[in-house]
Amino acid sequence: MNSYKAMQIENRYDCVVIGGGASGMMAAITAARNGARVAIVEHTARLGSKILQTGNGKCNFTNLDMDISKFQNDNKEFVGQVLDMFDQNATIEFFKELGVWHKERAGYVYPHSETAASLQEALRLEVERLGISVYLRCRASEINKVSDNTYDMVLAEDETDNKVGISVINIIIATGSKAAPKTGSDGSGYKIAKKFGHTVKKPLPALVQLISDNNLCKSMAGVRSTGKVMLYVDDVCVSSDIGEIQYADYGISGIPVFQISRYAVEAVDKGKSVKAIIDMIPDISKEELYNDVRIRKECETTKSVEQFFAGIVNKKLVYAACKNIHIDINASVETLKLTQINNIIDELKYFCFNIISFKGFESGQICQGGVVLSEVNASTMASHLADGVYFAGEILDVDGMCGGYNLQWAWSSGFVAGLNAAMNIR
Ligand SMILES: Cc1cc2nc3c(=O)[nH]c(=O)nc-3n(C[C@H](O)[C@H](O)[C@H](O)COP(=O)(O)OP(=O)(O)OC[C@H]3O[C@@H](n4cnc5c(N)ncnc54)[C@H](O)[C@@H]3O)c2cc1C
Repeated sequence: MNSYKAMQIENRYDCVVIGGGASGMMAAITAARNGARVAIVEHTARLGSKILQTGNGKCNFTNLDMDISKFQNDNKEFVGQVLDMFDQNATIEFFKELGVWHKERAGYVYPHSETAASLQEALRLEVERLGISVYLRCRASEINKVSDNTYDMVLAEDETDNKVGISVINIIIATGSKAAPKTGSDGSGYKIAKKFGHTVKKPLPALVQLISDNNLCKSMAGVRSTGKVMLYVDDVCVSSDIGEIQYADYGISGIPVFQISRYAVEAVDKGKSVKAIIDMIPDISKEELYNDVRIRKECETTKSVEQFFAGIVNKKLVYAACKNIHIDINASVETLKLTQINNIIDELKYFCFNIISFKGFESGQICQGGVVLSEVNASTMASHLADGVYFAGEILDVDGMCGGYNLQWAWSSGFVAGLNAAMNIR
């Protein structure tokens, strides 16, 4: 007799949500509002830990410019279908009803308090108000199908031997990915999905820093400067973005690097050649720069190369560009040929970082990969393989760009899963 059979069923629920993060709380709230008796099983000590870290503690919870082009996974139509059922306006309205007003900057939407904790707490209080049972520090140690529409589950408390048996009709798996595992998303949800027969595409970090073997990285470390990053995989440009690039001793970071990172990570993982080319002066054309230096070279004869470029771009970047083409940054511009100065411009406009690796799951904001979408119904978030099983959030093979798209995916998919799980009991 296994431990499950020995367990007495203590509680019966219409719907159990495994994972009390953004998508899990949304799913639980929606199911409860639609008449279901709901429980959340969360293996950390609190609900919504990751929300606290989002948007640098300010929580960029959606974006007014919502479109499937903001998602980078295959099968964007699936994402579009789900977003259509609960979009950015529905999200803003949902949180306003919970007392969380919003603030918008260039389409990026934050709580009016600019505090992630206010949004996390609003969700937690709504979970409480709706009488949703919350099992903290617990995981589903066993799940057994006992009839056509019932599962029995054993919930085990992690640090004690305490176990409780529950009976459920629907299970929503909302355990997140492997990104930022300290917040609780340790990838254990993939194992649960696999037990229901689901296929998991290899999870890899996304929205993550890239590591280069360029030996000039150390000399550029600490610089934050507007740049355009173009990602080349096997010499083909596959993605680009513009914004504040952060140069680090290991390589490159910053929002534009995050935006292109999932393609770099995927390509590095497959052993392809990956290069990030950075235009360090993206707002001035090469021709304008050539023209400027041609005119100034005639009159600013006493300046060093460093002084000559000081008003255009950070000197650490000029140093690296000069190093690449063996020009001394302290040399007087008078001693250099115009072609040599133009070569410095060429370097600054097309600086190459060979990408050899990427930071790990601890550093990635999200994961690419996860439960494959072809095994899930986009209209309901129900599993095609197991009755009464639903998915929500980042456990699925969906990854959005920076800008509130990943949380919007959590809200939309959580809403659709919660609603349909509640309908499944009627
Ligand atoms: C630093 C950082 C900043 C971010 N900033 C933003 C931002 O500003 N805007 C944005 O849109 N997105 C942002 N994201 C991404 C966003 O937070 C996630 O996409 C979103 O939280 C995913 O929601 P989820 O519910 O799928 O997973 P999570 O929020 O990770 O929740 C999963 C929950 O399940 C629990 N769990 C896992 N396994 C089990 C198990 N076996 N049993 C029980 N419980 C389990 C976990 O403890 C966790 O509480 C950021 C992420 C990080 C790390």
